Amino acid sequence: MTQAACSEERINKVYQEISKKYFEIDATTLENSTPVQTDIPVINSNLEKKHIKQFLLSNCSCGHDCQLQFAYDELIAARSEFRALSTQEKNCYILGQLRLL
Ligand SMILES: [Zn+2]
Repeated sequence: MTQAACSEERINKVYQEISKKYFEIDATTLENSTPVQTDIPVINSNLEKKHIKQFLLSNCSCGHDCQLQFAYDELIAARSEFRALSTQEKNCYILGQLRLL
């Protein structure tokens, strides 16, 4: 087995374990223990802009210049939309992104 295939198999296994645990949680328990977040968290927009600009000007640590695939406005919008999600929605989104890796 190639190193990439081995790594993919390992990621799939971890993903399956995490998603199994997550989706096994009783919906009522989730509702009672984690209040649905209705307010969009207040953020320091100057700091947010600084972080995004810094990210776009830095080479990605993976060596593939991933930062070139994003536009400043796109990142501002995406981060704002993500913050507006409930905790459960954020968890599902992150699990979905891990699955795509
Ligand atoms: Zn990268």
